[in-house]
Amino acid sequence: MIRSKDKKFNFEEGAVIEHDLDKAPKTGDWRYMMPKVDKEKCSGCTTCVPFCPEASIEMKKYKEGQRDKADIDYDFCKGCGVCAQVCPMKAITMEKNK
Ligand code: SF4
Ligand code: SF4
Repeated sequence: MIRSKDKKFNFEEGAVIEHDLDKAPKTGDWRYMMPKVDKEKCSGCTTCVPFCPEASIEMKKYKEGQRDKADIDYDFCKGCGVCAQVCPMKAITMEKNK
């Protein structure tokens, strides 16, 4: 455990580790199943975003005047299917990776 420097308090110090996304390994290569977002069904609720263990879902503009829709980054998505399970609109389906 790292103690605080002034030793008055006994807590762990945190850290922010910055990394270069361009140099990150593309874990999507391991994927067997692939999530597909039906943009017409997606309500833009963002429920799926924090559940993705790979932080591979981003909300992106789809149509003018509509809420942003879920978009999958296939470079990092591992195809675990969590997003499909939590989507209240059943807008994500898992298909075999091609
Ligand atoms: S399948 Fe898993 S890794 Fe891929 S976007 Fe959904 S939750 Fe994230
Ligand atoms: S949980 Fe479903 S409806 Fe909500 S943003 Fe994600 S894909 Fe769209």
